[in-house]
Amino acid sequence: MGPRAAILGGGIDDAALPRAGRRHHSGPPPFMERNHSVTYVIAEPCVDLKDKACIEECPVDCIYEGNRSLYIHPDECVDCGACEPVCPVEAIFYEDDVPEEWKDYYKANVEFFDELGSPGGAGKLGLIERDHPLIAALPPRDHEE
Ligand code: SF4
Ligand code: SF4
Repeated sequence: MGPRAAILGGGIDDAALPRAGRRHHSGPPPFMERNHSVTYVIAEPCVDLKDKACIEECPVDCIYEGNRSLYIHPDECVDCGACEPVCPVEAIFYEDDVPEEWKDYYKANVEFFDELGSPGGAGKLGLIERDHPLIAALPPRDHEE
């Protein structure tokens, strides 16, 4: 066990330490952890298709199903990129790469979860019978598969 492992696994009771001596995790401070700046986004081509190929690939089950589209949870997504190449209609983009015409889908993916918070897994929720207003307002899309 190296010195770092010894520190991490040493069984020291944080609460017993003076404040300045408590261990801190190495990530950002808690108020910065809800970071929407980097994530994957599902855009318009998924609407009314929802073949769910992406769900099978997601290691953290963070792709949720609405009525007409799927939505990636911005906080639960670990940015692994596994979902992107399996989408048959190229609906999934890294946030920075969302085409200009679909930029608002970033907001749609984020705001879809305003009421839900972070459920920690899509499977247990199943179909969520609503959509973000941006998607709900779209005319029905035909997909010729
Ligand atoms: S693979 Fe693409 S079209 Fe299929 S559900 Fe996922 S995002 Fe939608
Ligand atoms: S990038 Fe990875 S974690 Fe995020 S939705 Fe896609 S498969 Fe899931």
